[in-house]
Amino acid sequence: MAAAKHHDILAGLIRLHILHHAAEGEFFGNWMIEELREHGYRIGPGTLYPMLHGLERNGYLKSRTDGAGRRARRHYRATRKGRDALAVAQAKVRELFNELDKSR
Ligand SMILES: [Zn+2]
Repeated sequence: MAAAKHHDILAGLIRLHILHHAAEGEFFGNWMIEELREHGYRIGPGTLYPMLHGLERNGYLKSRTDGAGRRARRHYRATRKGRDALAVAQAKVRELFNELDKSR
């Protein structure tokens, strides 16, 4: 499956994609799986949730749970630290994009 392929390299891009949406507003896990799929990243819950938990543990995301039992849904959004990291990364991505683009 394409998901695991090049995962180490792509994981940073996926995290930035997650942070980007988390800075815009709340999302929940299944929405993010679909969103990433539309961008060509085929990642499942077994990959996404550990990433979300890691981002939360490191202070980039915060979550809240809505509902209870089987209907419970966890929503995520960016913290101040997450938005700061995104701003730093945006500048780096732009610079990298320019360099990659030049070398084609
Ligand atoms: Zn997106």
